Amino acid sequence: MQPVIFALDARLGEAGDTLPLKGHLDESSYTLGEREFSLPSGIDYDLMLTNAGEGILVTGILTTHVVGTCDRCLSPAEFDVSGEVDEYYFFEEPEDTGDDDDDELDFSLVSADNTIDLSGALLSSLVMDTPFVVLCQPDCKGLCPVCGANLNEEDCGHAAQIEEERLKASPFAVLASLDLDGEEGEKDKVSGAAGEAQEGKPDAE
Ligand SMILES: [Zn+2]
Ligand SMILES: [Zn+2]
Repeated sequence: MQPVIFALDARLGEAGDTLPLKGHLDESSYTLGEREFSLPSGIDYDLMLTNAGEGILVTGILTTHVVGTCDRCLSPAEFDVSGEVDEYYFFEEPEDTGDDDDDELDFSLVSADNTIDLSGALLSSLVMDTPFVVLCQPDCKGLCPVCGANLNEEDCGHAAQIEEERLKASPFAVLASLDLDGEEGEKDKVSGAAGEAQEGKPDAE
């Protein structure tokens, strides 16, 4: 993502000062791991900048429409993002607290020329709200592992064939031929034998 530089000025000069900041970016794409997403309508943001004393707090919302690729069938998959932006830009690097967790501290700094770059905060909001699994539709049937047919569009018949063979090959296939009702009957017979009303119980065949 291109830098999104905002120059701080007198409106945020004192602790407690706030400044709303709305804008649009013609950003056209982003990548997440090996996945590529396009942003046909760019990115909109609606932020509030606050001078919080030791730095500038940036909070607000990022909205955009994303087009990616379905993880199951490789067709285009679209979704809307409405992500929370939350970033703190320190005026000066915070002093070492002596805490062992310092390496994990995540913060941004106000640049020496008194500007902040909002791109990192916007990108992390976008990434946070990108689904881990992207689907063209919630019940996407995916591609046939045998012939590659898009199972949302056609039934090539392979799935039924595979399922049939799987059932035949299963060690539990024999269970299908068991007379489970008979087994239930046996139990009834046993408990019946312990009581007096044995005649009232149906006998297993
Ligand atoms: Zn799909
Ligand atoms: Zn197939």
